[in-house]
Amino acid sequence: MDWHQFRRNRISQPIFGWAQRVLPTMSETESEALEAGDVWWEADLFTGNPEWQRLLDTPRPELTSEERAFMDGPVEELCDMLDDWKITWEDGDLPDEMWTFIKRNRFFGMIVPKKYGGLEFSAFAHSEVIRTISSRSATAAVTVMVPNSLGPGELLMQFGTEEQREYWLPRLARGEEVPCFGLTSPEAGSDAASMTDSGIICRDTWKGEEVLGIRLNWHKRYITLSPVATVLGLAFKLRDPNHLLGDEEELGITVALVPTDLPGVTTGRRHLPSFQMFQNGPTEGKDVFIPLDHVIGGEAQLGKGWKMLMAALAAGRGISLPSLSAAAAAFCARTTGAYARVREQFGIPIGKFEGVQERLGAIAATAYRLDAARRLTCAGLDSGLKLAVISAIMKAHATDQMRQAVNDAMDVHAGKAVIDGPSNYLGNLYRAVPVGITVEGANILTRNLIIFGQGAIRAHPYLLKEMNALEEEDRELALTRFDEAFWAHVGHGLKTAGRAWIRNWSGGLISPSPKAGKARPYYRQLSRAAASFALLSDFALLTLGGALKRKEMLSARLGDILSELYFLSAVLKRWEDDGRQTEDLPLLAYSMEEGLATIDRRFAELFANLPNRFAAGLCKFLIQPLGPHRHGPRDKVAVRCAEILMAPSATRDRLTSGLHRGRGNDAIATLERAFSLSVLTEKSRDAMRKAAIDDPETAVATGNITAAEAEQVAEYRKAVAAVIAVDDFAPEELALHGMGGEQRETGRSAQAARM
Ligand SMILES: Cc1cc2nc3c(=O)[nH]c(=O)nc-3n(C[C@H](O)[C@H](O)[C@H](O)COP(=O)(O)OP(=O)(O)OC[C@H]3O[C@@H](n4cnc5c(N)ncnc54)[C@H](O)[C@@H]3O)c2cc1C
Repeated sequence: MDWHQFRRNRISQPIFGWAQRVLPTMSETESEALEAGDVWWEADLFTGNPEWQRLLDTPRPELTSEERAFMDGPVEELCDMLDDWKITWEDGDLPDEMWTFIKRNRFFGMIVPKKYGGLEFSAFAHSEVIRTISSRSATAAVTVMVPNSLGPGELLMQFGTEEQREYWLPRLARGEEVPCFGLTSPEAGSDAASMTDSGIICRDTWKGEEVLGIRLNWHKRYITLSPVATVLGLAFKLRDPNHLLGDEEELGITVALVPTDLPGVTTGRRHLPSFQMFQNGPTEGKDVFIPLDHVIGGEAQLGKGWKMLMAALAAGRGISLPSLSAAAAAFCARTTGAYARVREQFGIPIGKFEGVQERLGAIAATAYRLDAARRLTCAGLDSGLKLAVISAIMKAHATDQMRQAVNDAMDVHAGKAVIDGPSNYLGNLYRAVPVGITVEGANILTRNLIIFGQGAIRAHPYLLKEMNALEEEDRELALTRFDEAFWAHVGHGLKTAGRAWIRNWSGGLISPSPKAGKARPYYRQLSRAAASFALLSDFALLTLGGALKRKEMLSARLGDILSELYFLSAVLKRWEDDGRQTEDLPLLAYSMEEGLATIDRRFAELFANLPNRFAAGLCKFLIQPLGPHRHGPRDKVAVRCAEILMAPSATRDRLTSGLHRGRGNDAIATLERAFSLSVLTEKSRDAMRKAAIDDPETAVATGNITAAEAEQVAEYRKAVAAVIAVDDFAPEELALHGMGGEQRETGRSAQAARM
């Protein structure tokens, strides 16, 4: 018996049996979800030895001249029209002229190819559009993002028949049809595959002829655009009890297009999601008949709905909410920095207090890293990949970091942001945050179950090969394949252990990095962290196997490390793409130090909680013999980041580019004006302060400032007064335009459900 045979039969065989017992068993829906989409940079990170040059060679996303013209034209025009306060508290919807504008300018067809009448924008352009609109109104942003994300458009493009595409896509692109997508039902939220919405294969009359089709019954809720949708992309469980199609009875989850004017369809009622006015509501169908050709992809796609949904989710999820989140963080950075400069307490701008600077620094770095990750993700999507794991990372972490940035901005603005009214530019964003956290896969589930769960299986260099070998029916072939994958895995594991040991024990000094100027030490630290992550992932998988799926807290921490590695890679890439701007270094340093400290903290938590104490001890010895390596950004870096937000500079403009800057005398335009005047009058105000003179006219008389400067100071003071003003209302104005009646009725229907 040669060595290979000996290894295969005497060593690999028992391990094969053991692996069959410990590795996770998966339902069909789980494995379809796991296998959907592509892997990209996260696979490099999983090797423990990422090839940095590959990251740096990724083309920087850019707008074409046509896309730039759209940003400068229709997007700017739409933003000028939007008045979020009025939409929220007076209109309760986007006004008709905005719906018309959005449809006419094909905002609903950004992802639709030109040959079907769409705009065929890149992922980056699509993201830029959402980002700018989000800086004006979350309601408008959600309205525009939904038809371009998971839904009929994306599903038709990926799976529709040519006939379906030719019919539907031009109508969707022109806004003649408004789509929505119905998956969630009262009993099936996160566990969407457990829906009870049903379709039965049957014969019925369609346009005067008897045809084979589906009788549908559904009750969906939370469906965005449903109250105004003309076509519903519906997910349901399809059955063929009378065997009209074949032997199989349970055909599985299927997705069809259902025109909402068919008999039996009920739509129109609205939910009120966190007081955001985008259209969202329940929909019901009772015995609605559709012919088979309404199934997306036709008969070939019957029962394949879950796979289709997972594949479609992989694209849109990486764009919509991450773009909104990046916009929110940049918006918080620009407004909070400006406010902290013009709002004075104890005789100085509040932005000079370290407590406020701490928050400003955090907001600035969040804006920097979120936008970095958004751009990198768009670059990946624009290379034609459907990024399943990365889009989950982006969705969960971008929305979570947005929440932190918005909270910090609220705290710095204090009463100004708490009191609602047209002068409050933060309150509605604060209310919108939980929507982002909940939709497209609620964050707890995504963080604790999906990111590492899917990441490990899809992006690990050997795990999927081993799992596939275990599933192989031919036992001899299974053992041969398993033997090959397993021993390659062992070799890889030994190399990883060596790398992790050397890189950690040298504090990252003996660690690969490209020639990247001042960023070079951070590449070394990331290479150290990536090797440690690869090692610890292997130990966690080896010692816990399938049980890791239930150990959600451990899985979440591993997922957090993977997510941080992705975000920090994006930060390094952004610094390179931006031309290694020295002035941006504080933002780079803050983002990197904060992320590295999070990674180290998660490692420490894993060492403390891994059930196998020997494995935990060994990993700790190799990775953190003296405890965490990094402890977060230095205070002086936080202060420098805060200062970036409080003074005009190219760095501040880069950080907040693409945000709408307000119109007329609205709250944002007023803040921008006060900020500019603050810069313009700084010298004059300093001169007055030194001379202990408060009145500009006196300062002119004493020769401390000129008459023109006195005028500017007076104007500045007026602008600041407008910024710090908040709204008040007559009691009768707070009747909220009939909202009370609607609330009472909704209350009744919820009460009825409880009885
Ligand atoms: C404003 C809004 C718009 C929406 N738009 C649409 C739409 O257009 N189309 C559509 O089909 N759906 C839509 N949804 C539905 C949305 O996708 C669901 O709300 C979401 O999937 C979560 O379901 P749920 O709210 O029922 O929460 P639940 O499923 O009840 O979950 C409650 C909590 O438990 C957590 N949880 C559940 N299972 C696990 C697990 N295994 N491990 C860890 N944590 C877990 C979740 O993360 C969540 O935090 C929308 C929802 C909202 C609020």
